[in-house]
Amino acid sequence: MDVSTPLTDFPGVGEVRAKALARLGLHTAGDLVGYFPRSYEDRRERCTIAGAPLDQPVCVEVMLAEEPRLMNIRRGLDVTRMKVVDHTSAMLVSFFNQGYLRQALHRGEEYILYGKVELVGNHRQMTNPHFEPAARPRFTGRIMPVYPLTAGITNHLLAGLVERALEELPPVEESLPEAFRARHRLAGAAESYRAIHFPEDEEALEAARRRFAFEELFYLSLGLALLRERRSRGAGPSFPEADPTGFYGLLPFSLTAAQRRATEEAAADLRSPRPMNRLVQGDVGSGKTAVAAACAWMARQAGWQSAMMAPTELLAQQHFHTLTALLEPAHMTVGLLTGSMRAAEKRKVLSALQSGDIHLVVGTHALLSQGVEFRRLGLVITDEQHRFGVEQRAALAAKANTPGDPADAAPEENFSPNVLVMSATPIPRTLALIIYGDLDVSVIDELPPGRKPVQTFLIGESKRQRLYGFVRAQVQEGRQVYLVCPAVEENPDGAWDLKAVNEYARVLREEVFPDLRVGLVHGKLKARDKEAAMAAFTAGETDVLVSTTVIEVGVDVPNASLIVIENADRYGLSQLHQLRGRVGRGQHQSWCILVSDNRSPDTRARLKVLTETTDGFKIAEEDLKLRGPGDFFGARQHGLPALRVADLNTDTRVLKEAQEAAAGLLAEDPDLSRPEHRPLLERVRRLFDQDPDRFN
Ligand code: ADP
Ligand code: MG
Repeated sequence: MDVSTPLTDFPGVGEVRAKALARLGLHTAGDLVGYFPRSYEDRRERCTIAGAPLDQPVCVEVMLAEEPRLMNIRRGLDVTRMKVVDHTSAMLVSFFNQGYLRQALHRGEEYILYGKVELVGNHRQMTNPHFEPAARPRFTGRIMPVYPLTAGITNHLLAGLVERALEELPPVEESLPEAFRARHRLAGAAESYRAIHFPEDEEALEAARRRFAFEELFYLSLGLALLRERRSRGAGPSFPEADPTGFYGLLPFSLTAAQRRATEEAAADLRSPRPMNRLVQGDVGSGKTAVAAACAWMARQAGWQSAMMAPTELLAQQHFHTLTALLEPAHMTVGLLTGSMRAAEKRKVLSALQSGDIHLVVGTHALLSQGVEFRRLGLVITDEQHRFGVEQRAALAAKANTPGDPADAAPEENFSPNVLVMSATPIPRTLALIIYGDLDVSVIDELPPGRKPVQTFLIGESKRQRLYGFVRAQVQEGRQVYLVCPAVEENPDGAWDLKAVNEYARVLREEVFPDLRVGLVHGKLKARDKEAAMAAFTAGETDVLVSTTVIEVGVDVPNASLIVIENADRYGLSQLHQLRGRVGRGQHQSWCILVSDNRSPDTRARLKVLTETTDGFKIAEEDLKLRGPGDFFGARQHGLPALRVADLNTDTRVLKEAQEAAAGLLAEDPDLSRPEHRPLLERVRRLFDQDPDRFN
């Protein structure tokens, strides 16, 4: 047998099973060894019927005391029952919809059952246990792998095949140098493959898992570092004189130290002949917009245009207003381009972009449309990155290749503009390196001075009248209030307790606050109406804004001091944190009230996190624990390779060590060109091979 031996050569595998196995991606003996369990069953503990602990999986050796009986319960549901005994006691065993067992199990024979013993009345019983003949047990007394399965393939069958492959194939060759393994305390390849399937004990399993997780994260880190390194060799517009100091004096406030640090890191990128690819990560309200403005200003000083793309019209408009205010004193012209603008307005903006009269354009996806051409695009900014796919960022960057300026030579092939990405999703730095793998990261870890932390409370329906009183009191003090309700279209399961946004607004307007000015904004409104509602709120012409989560990202009205979030249990922590970030943006004490009658202890514990901290990093960590980083990966459509063993939530230590190892190796051999590193490079290439041309 060798790694390419087809599975049909295995006893018990015919055409039908081979087809089923192929659905799992299993074709050869080698595939089996590389098919890792998704979990394990500890079948080492053997008990007697009387001595078995209740309700936890154990092995019990029994004799069948009678022939199995098949009973129909109703259409489509039958049960096969039998009495089993050992020297201590007897119990009833039931199998649902496994009528064939009548032929497989025989009175007087001995079997080992694996499952939970339950007490019903004062009778012990087991339901749907795994079983094997006591005379030839294969999986009893050991830790049993549990594989992802498909119809027609049982776990016992698959485990048997894997075990056979492991026994008959030559040991897996070691791919890591001896010294490297020793340095990082990594188990050998052959023993790790054995132990990941059939571990002797917990320690052996942990050692194998650690090796594979380390390997995965190591290759991933290497690959991402190589990508970064390669792109940094590309050509981009450089602004050799870039220096933000001249801009600081034009701002209405002085930047925080963290804002300055981020700005200066960006400035260094801009001065270099390589294109900038930087992520500015900062909690809500940390002042990312000012950093973006400083970059656009530096681009302008060097004679280049900038474009900022925002995920929603609302946000684009708001950035347009803020940036106009920030950049006007510097004599910069800011333009706006969104899908809902009139054709004539659009044409004016488009021609001003082409002529270079607009220095910074803010817009939505409309910026990506054909016909948007720049005279000289040198800086691309995307806000709230998690809303954009990488392709969109790239599409905007590609606009820099339209040779708008006849004075410029045709742009080089590998030309890309400077890219600045802003994100309010704070994630730990090690993770950022993976998730935003190909970007350099600046962190704004400080809020502008004078901010009072938002006070957060969790209340139930019974406090609703008091809540309304509080809203009114805030308005009487001259403040404004957001009331957030889940939108109709966000309610696929039609749960009755969700308040349809229109009805909710009507009740508030007509019955609860007839004397207050209540505005309404939701995703289904026409852009023009949305804009009008937001403008009225920003201008202080409405007191209360009823809204859906369209206000989640970025909206900035410093006079708003209270946000009420209905059905708060419906949202993820990070999303709630974003929503809460709409208040506490000015000098007023601000509040966030989460309304939920959900009594589930998990939900309450989750929401409690928000009442206890305003630290976005802590909240993101909690969120990550609860939801896993899969969301980040999915949302980014990054084409990052999937991780088989490593778990970014729990393997943070391994991740750090793997990243350091990758960095250390690249310091010695930056492009892995040394002959002894050839196999490594091959592995990295293979890991990224869903996206092969990235390494060509
Ligand atoms: P975010 O990081 O959430 O995008 P913004 O850029 O919208 O934050 O800034 C939040 C608010 O803080 C804005 O009203 C902005 O004018 C203000 N701000 C930003 N930086 C400072 C600063 N250094 N000092 C005082 N206020 C600031
Ligand atoms: Mg923002």
